[in-house]
Amino acid sequence: MVLSLGLTGCALTPPTVGGNRPTTVTASPSTPATPSPSASAPSSPTATPDATPTPDTRTGKQLNKPYEVRGIPVISKKHRISASYGPADPTGPNHLDAETAAALATMTAAAKADGVTVKVKSGYRSYAVQKASYDRALRTQPQNINFYAPPGASEHQTGLAVDLWDGRVWYRAMENTATGKWLHKHAHEYGFILRFPDGKEAITGVPYEPWHFRYIGTADALKFGKGNRLTLEEYLGLD
Ligand SMILES: [Zn+2]
Repeated sequence: MVLSLGLTGCALTPPTVGGNRPTTVTASPSTPATPSPSASAPSSPTATPDATPTPDTRTGKQLNKPYEVRGIPVISKKHRISASYGPADPTGPNHLDAETAAALATMTAAAKADGVTVKVKSGYRSYAVQKASYDRALRTQPQNINFYAPPGASEHQTGLAVDLWDGRVWYRAMENTATGKWLHKHAHEYGFILRFPDGKEAITGVPYEPWHFRYIGTADALKFGKGNRLTLEEYLGLD
């Protein structure tokens, strides 16, 4: 079952981009114009699942930090990071964010206990490495370019994402391996979400990648469930 969460919240307030109705909020002259009619809602300091995300207005040096919504860093083609950003606390051979690495170790051990092998095919990638990979793909396989994040748009630069497999079967067929099936059923229990679900390219900007898992912590990942149909964009109410 997929929880609606942010989705239902979105329906309550008009989207910030696209379909914007030209509602001229002509407030009385004495009142400063308010951004939306929902401004009358109690301004709690704690973000609620229904809160409309603050738009990403970062420029210049602000791009040294990722765009965050409800404490979750969002890195994508729409929300990029600069070349100087990297994992705050990198660890291990894959240079992953420390908490991500710990969660991955726990998940890998749990899979092993079930007789399933989980290996990292790709962990942290620097901006420069991503750029080289993207530029090469542009030259050699432009038909597949959507699988390649442009530099600054890859979650791999944060150490929060991993490409996982069994060490043998790669690409789309990975989803039907024991490893793929196990991960698609259990990853969320360890704080990982399938970041690019099947049929959601219009939302994520990336085709289905059964191997790419993004750590967001169990509190949020558990709300995604094991259906692997919800995107981070939908969950956070991003357009
Ligand atoms: Zn990946």
